[in-house]
Amino acid sequence: MTPEAFTSPDGAAVVDAAARLRGRAHRTPVFTSRLVDRLCGAGFYFKCENLQRAGAFKFRGACNALLKLAPAQQRAGVVAFSSGNHAQAVALAAGELGIPATIVMPLDAPAEKLAATRSYGARVITYDRYRENREDIARELSTREGLAVLPPFDHPDVIAGQGTAALELFEDAGPLDALFVPLGGGGLLAGTLLASGIAAAGCAVYGVEPAAGDDGRQSLRLGRIVSIPVPRTLADGAQTQALGQLTFPIIRERVTDILAVEDEALVEAMGILARHLKLLVEPTGCLGLAGACSMAPALAGRRVGVILSGGNVDPARLASLLPRR
Ligand SMILES: *Cc1c(COP(=O)(O)O)cnc(C)c1O
Repeated sequence: MTPEAFTSPDGAAVVDAAARLRGRAHRTPVFTSRLVDRLCGAGFYFKCENLQRAGAFKFRGACNALLKLAPAQQRAGVVAFSSGNHAQAVALAAGELGIPATIVMPLDAPAEKLAATRSYGARVITYDRYRENREDIARELSTREGLAVLPPFDHPDVIAGQGTAALELFEDAGPLDALFVPLGGGGLLAGTLLASGIAAAGCAVYGVEPAAGDDGRQSLRLGRIVSIPVPRTLADGAQTQALGQLTFPIIRERVTDILAVEDEALVEAMGILARHLKLLVEPTGCLGLAGACSMAPALAGRRVGVILSGGNVDPARLASLLPRR
């Protein structure tokens, strides 16, 4: 099925997804730190999806979408394409549900992500992300083998599943003035906006993407989906080239703004989270905090939510990125 065939999810779909995921996805903790509040100039509530199963919020969307497949399709299996975290999420959730999974992954994906995906029992097919189109590869497999394509963001059940992280944050942190959300293809941001629509109407929601790949910001300004070459950034989970047919309209209608941050700001945020919260957060997972810090003066005295979207980074690599103090 193509995304055009899907109808847009709504807030009720996020609430449904939350019920479906209970006992399957972790209800991740919300961390606070007075030291970080003082450093960054606001009252922060960190939603720790780096501690989610398979190491990122992507487990929520994948699990929700797999549970909603028709039984015959669950038997036939699924194919997913991903730069890493979606792959691991689909592989883990499908393995648990007894659904055969094939994952199309870039050749240059981090080795630990390739290995983890295989270890969950999925079949892995690699491709060159600078030359080949992963969606074409997945579609061809889908036609040949009868597999359902499970896209990483542009799917209503994936978007609804991703929104459950923010729903939990609103429940656990209480009223927030602003929420900062990492942005790649927009599944997490669109789901978050649907959740805020029903649970936190007064909360400003910002998407944050890497400056090298600010297609989301350009799309918002121009009012249409802007497509860019694969951006080169530390934020490997946000190397998407364009927002989706389903995610863009939701984002355009509801988002407060989209911010872009440099890789150096991601490294700075990664250091703050490691030193003061003892949290291992991958560069893409630091987009939200980096975005909030870039707006710091305007956030003084505010209650600010940040989604730490993933923690799949080799600790040695994280250490090598951090400047010595
Ligand atoms: C996939 C991913 C994102 C971006 O999510 P989208 O739904 O594509 O916008 C952000 N952070 C991490 C850790 C991810 O794995």
